[in-house]
Amino acid sequence: MLVIGIAMLQGSRHEHMESIRKASEDLDAEIEIRELRKSTDVDGIHAVILPGGESTAMKIAARSEDLYEELWKYIASKQIPVLGTCAGAILLSQKNLISTKIRRNAFGRQINSFESELSIDFEDQDRFHGVFIRAPRFDGKAVNPIAWLDDEVVGVSENNIIALTFHPELTDNLLFHQWLISSAKHNLDSK
Ligand code: GLN
Repeated sequence: MLVIGIAMLQGSRHEHMESIRKASEDLDAEIEIRELRKSTDVDGIHAVILPGGESTAMKIAARSEDLYEELWKYIASKQIPVLGTCAGAILLSQKNLISTKIRRNAFGRQINSFESELSIDFEDQDRFHGVFIRAPRFDGKAVNPIAWLDDEVVGVSENNIIALTFHPELTDNLLFHQWLISSAKHNLDSK
């Protein structure tokens, strides 16, 4: 059974849970969704979602239970597929799990939340509806970009990790959630 972890400390975790459940139905894949709250929840997961929310609040919530320390070690050593959205992408960059740099709240006040069509280059798809909420911006050179808002990179795929500054869990498009399940399944089958 594929075990998909979702970091449950803060943010849009219930929306991600719904998307991953629907994606598993579409793919006819049996999954167990594991809610990650403390370090002992991490062992045995085959993929993980780091939701958006407020990265500072997440770090404070995680401190008492050391969830993140365990999670970063596990991701680095097991190379499991990771989907990090918005604040999740911020954490991945701050922990150097992706090498693309990121700036928090970088769209400024007036337009800190907006929606826009994106172009993507991922799994044979070229369009995606982007929902941005107090979004960060990638900074400097993006490694392996997969999504663009006009000319600006808003998604990267580095090794086993996808980091997006927008929120796919707030759309009906399950592309990234399906990717997470498929690649976890692929890893498990090839063991
Ligand atoms: N502004 C948030 C932060 O800096 C990220 C926003 C989001 O995840 N929707 O942590």
